[in-house]
Amino acid sequence: MNDDRAWVHTAIDALAREAARSADTHLLKINLPGFAGIDFYFKDEASHPTGSLKHRLARSLYLYALCNGRLRKGQPTVDASSGSTAIAEAWFARLLGLRFTAVMPAATAPAKIRAVEALGGACDLVEDPSQVHARAAWHAANGACHLDQFGLAERATDWRGNNNIAESILGQLEHEPHAQPAWIVCGAGTGGTSATIGRYLRYKCHPTNLCVADVEHSAFFEGFQKRDPGCCCDRPSLIEGIGRPRVEPSFMPGVVDMMVRVPDAASLAAMSVLSRLLGRRVGGSTGTNFFALCWLADRMRQAGQQGSLVTLICDSGERYVGTYYNAQWLRSKGIDTAPFEHRIEQFLSGEDFACDLAVAE
Ligand SMILES: *Cc1c(COP(=O)(O)O)cnc(C)c1O
Repeated sequence: MNDDRAWVHTAIDALAREAARSADTHLLKINLPGFAGIDFYFKDEASHPTGSLKHRLARSLYLYALCNGRLRKGQPTVDASSGSTAIAEAWFARLLGLRFTAVMPAATAPAKIRAVEALGGACDLVEDPSQVHARAAWHAANGACHLDQFGLAERATDWRGNNNIAESILGQLEHEPHAQPAWIVCGAGTGGTSATIGRYLRYKCHPTNLCVADVEHSAFFEGFQKRDPGCCCDRPSLIEGIGRPRVEPSFMPGVVDMMVRVPDAASLAAMSVLSRLLGRRVGGSTGTNFFALCWLADRMRQAGQQGSLVTLICDSGERYVGTYYNAQWLRSKGIDTAPFEHRIEQFLSGEDFACDLAVAE
């Protein structure tokens, strides 16, 4: 066995030991008085060591690169990332003793940039967000291993099990009144989470539907509606982690039952309301998820249906104190969350949800 192969074994072993030291994330249940027979669950992906659902993805991407013979001893690694993935990938690079460069849009929250650098990663900031893929490819052409979250997320994750997020959620629901949820809601950044959940639901023959909540400035919704992977959006998403200028290759429309498009002000209003309910701050994409969850709960309640609804807490709001939680920043973006906050609060206290969403099925 050559040196390189021995190093690969050491690296895979290091990843296995990290997984063994890590606990699974909580599935939080919230009881809302106006919803008899409808149960709300939140998979707390903010509680990973690197603070987001990208911890699972980064572990899988390194493992996938190693097992495919694409990552050798001493080789630098690179990926395009809006932040959360970069933090997780930098963390795993440090664990494996590798260099890592994150190619990020220049507008990424400064706290995320600092977090990558604090983990020993480098940040290559690109003015035009649509150029991050090309820039990452340039690094790869110069010898780096491209971890390629947008291209490989859907296949790097072991969708049949191995403690993927879907297996974990369904396992944690096992003894609940409605063990098979009516809906699972998630956003799409790479599309990897929705691909993993959608595939697992089919594989295990669950009747559960999957709803992907998209944002205002993103290509996914239209791409899904028209079944056209070529759809584009030229304005960047305001909600970090989700919404992309193109339909990313890891997005698998065939396993998605419904998509909704949530206005940015609604996402950030829902983020604030959920933060008050939980007593801790959640991130913007969690707000998008929660808004779509409320919309589905309203449909169920109006139809007299009972059941459980599940969504994800994708990351913590502490990363966004200077942006989503900053009144001045919101004003500078022309966003007023107050009307949506009011409607969500009214809804949670028993009224109908007076919000219409764009829907594609
Ligand atoms: C990546 C990300 C998502 C979306 O998950 P994907 O599996 O990439 O589609 C949602 N929220 C946050 C904060 C993220 O970083």
